[in-house]
Amino acid sequence: MGLNQISKIVILTGAGISAESGIQTFRDKGGLWEKYSLEEVATPQGFRKNPRFVHEFYNQRRRDLFKVKPNPAHYALARLEQEFPGEVLLVTQNVDDLHERAGSRNLLHMHGELLKVRCEACNVILKEEGEIFPETKCPKCGRQGTLRPHVVWFGEMPFYLDEIYKALKECDLFVAIGTSGTVYPAAGFVMIARECGAWCVELNLEPSTVADYFHEHHYGPASEVVPVWVDKILKRETN
Ligand code: NAD
Repeated sequence: MGLNQISKIVILTGAGISAESGIQTFRDKGGLWEKYSLEEVATPQGFRKNPRFVHEFYNQRRRDLFKVKPNPAHYALARLEQEFPGEVLLVTQNVDDLHERAGSRNLLHMHGELLKVRCEACNVILKEEGEIFPETKCPKCGRQGTLRPHVVWFGEMPFYLDEIYKALKECDLFVAIGTSGTVYPAAGFVMIARECGAWCVELNLEPSTVADYFHEHHYGPASEVVPVWVDKILKRETN
């Protein structure tokens, strides 16, 4: 497909886009997840077993978020959204807010947001920049022990799937950035987009486990590879 035929772009981002901002990825060596077990801090069962420990884990991750900044890859995607004449939808698996801080607006957090909590009793979703404990009361319904991080844990359904599948079926260009291709359903998005006729591009440090499904690949650190790719898309009119 010629670049100037593109009118709808869907971009999927993963932990790799935030790695150079200082947020550890999921599976890379030395990552946060080597120190914590997934079952303990990223499953509903782990939360039920030890809510204090799980809240403390997310309280710490919230504190860490204020020590980091978006990197050139986040800014390049915000620029693409602002300057591209067609539609750009950003779907992120990340729970950090670095895309928003860089200026992206058409953004879906399919795995939730670190800076939000939800009440399991009244379902209210609230902004939260501080700490939550099992004793914390829901500001809406007043019940105690009902707040949980507004993040999608293993075994739970990601958010916005209907909207995402619709966009994947309609897009001309699908791009996956900084994602290992191991967490489904996100890892399967390339298969849907490709099946529906989109040109598929992978930008990552190394080939992901679903690399073979992409038509085009660019490997290297996101802060270098993403701005170059965005420039290429934005200059397409003149090429
Ligand atoms: P992942 O850790 O499984 O994979 C990260 C990928 O990024 C790897 O393929 C790695 O090679 C690549 N990568 C590492 N450094 C990079 C860089 N500088 N530039 C480009 N690519 C780089 O993460 P995932 O695929 O997003 O899936 C894991 C799950 O972990 C997701 O559900 C996500 O919600 C969660 N997670 C989120 C954050 C965050 O919010 N920032 C951080 C860790 C994990």
